[in-house]
Amino acid sequence: MSKPRIFKTGINKIRIHFSSNPKEARTPPWDGGWIWQNDQLGRPWVTVACQGLGASVWYPCKDHQSDEPDNGATLTIITPDTLVGVGNGRLTQKTALPDNKIAWQWTVVNPINNYLIVPSIGKYVNFTAEMTGEKGKLDLSYWVLDYNLEKAKEHFSIVKPMIKCFEEWMGPYPFYQDSYKLVDAPHLGMEHQSAVAYGNGYMNGYRGMDRSGSGWGKDWDFIIVHESGHEWFANNITTKDMADMWVHESFTTYSEALFVQCRHGLQAANEYVIGQRRNIFNRLPMIGPYGVNKEGDDIYDKGANMIHTIRQVINNDGIFKKILSGLNKDFYHQTVTTLQIENYISVKSKIDFSKVFDQYLRTVNIPTLVYKNTGNHIQYKWSNCVMGFNMPVRLKNNIWMYPTENFQSIGIDKLGIWDLKLIKIFYPYKRNIVQKNICKQAPTE
Ligand SMILES: [Zn+2]
Repeated sequence: MSKPRIFKTGINKIRIHFSSNPKEARTPPWDGGWIWQNDQLGRPWVTVACQGLGASVWYPCKDHQSDEPDNGATLTIITPDTLVGVGNGRLTQKTALPDNKIAWQWTVVNPINNYLIVPSIGKYVNFTAEMTGEKGKLDLSYWVLDYNLEKAKEHFSIVKPMIKCFEEWMGPYPFYQDSYKLVDAPHLGMEHQSAVAYGNGYMNGYRGMDRSGSGWGKDWDFIIVHESGHEWFANNITTKDMADMWVHESFTTYSEALFVQCRHGLQAANEYVIGQRRNIFNRLPMIGPYGVNKEGDDIYDKGANMIHTIRQVINNDGIFKKILSGLNKDFYHQTVTTLQIENYISVKSKIDFSKVFDQYLRTVNIPTLVYKNTGNHIQYKWSNCVMGFNMPVRLKNNIWMYPTENFQSIGIDKLGIWDLKLIKIFYPYKRNIVQKNICKQAPTE
């Protein structure tokens, strides 16, 4: 056994040699490992996906989301000279090696999650573009299989308006130094930082479908938008524990609606989010068990709807926008806990959302607004909710009610309407969908 070595304070270099038979992914990108495929012309096409399982499936690392290398990472991929190796960030060196091989060195200078560092090897070609974003010139780079080049040039034209939209709502793209990239992948897609994996078959929608069923998810590529949205929530702001992964997926799923709003207006975005409710199951809470590398349930569509609900309660898109961009500024390149995010939203909106978060993140119960007409008055309260649940409710005519767990009463004259049929309530989960697990019937707004 060799003598233990004491490291000096500061930066030390460790060289680790390792080799093994790589674990193969069975259903990428949903389980982890290497993906060995051939492209349509029978040539090798190889990459890795390891979200969830973790990067230790293929290289030695401190495999935990709570820590990221402060100064980025360098990845060198050695391929036969007939193939191309693509990694994260920028190509910083390309070296010819003996035996007809090439070493492709890729460098990221920003903090990055282990699971986002991924090599892709195939018959890639590159084309580039640039745009002026909020932090100046942003380089866009696309690595696609040679036979996809022409359709990629057309299909990826969505990227510039998408980044413009995301910057408007969520603040500057978080990795200007590392550029923005899309890389053809033999699986559906993944948010690999500054090398987003793309595998949606150059179709719009999600494999050609509109997940929301609203009709507003058909004319843009779901994978480009969703996985790029993760550059803000997941890659810029990363949760320390997988249990809090709602922060990654809920805000990113909501970024789809923001993109719909940029493209088609607010009404379309509302309909898109409401349409997503058909994908909510309410089986397990959104926050998973801590310390065991496990995410919660319903972190996509239910989370996006929770954020949409919070936006309605804030009722001021200037403030809402400042919260989204403020999160990305104040937690820039950081790892966070759910409580940091929850508190931030309450503090910046000056509305205490703690019980709303408790309700939707930590239980599967759908709060029910109970109300009855006593003649001249409406009595109302929340039921099926956590103790202290106090989410305000806005009526169609912009009158606000502030239900609690106890009945309160309001004169019908105070509601500003006489015909009770005109009472339309803005709240997120109607009681008639409670029993049905899958939300089929959407509220009116
Ligand atoms: Zn996602």
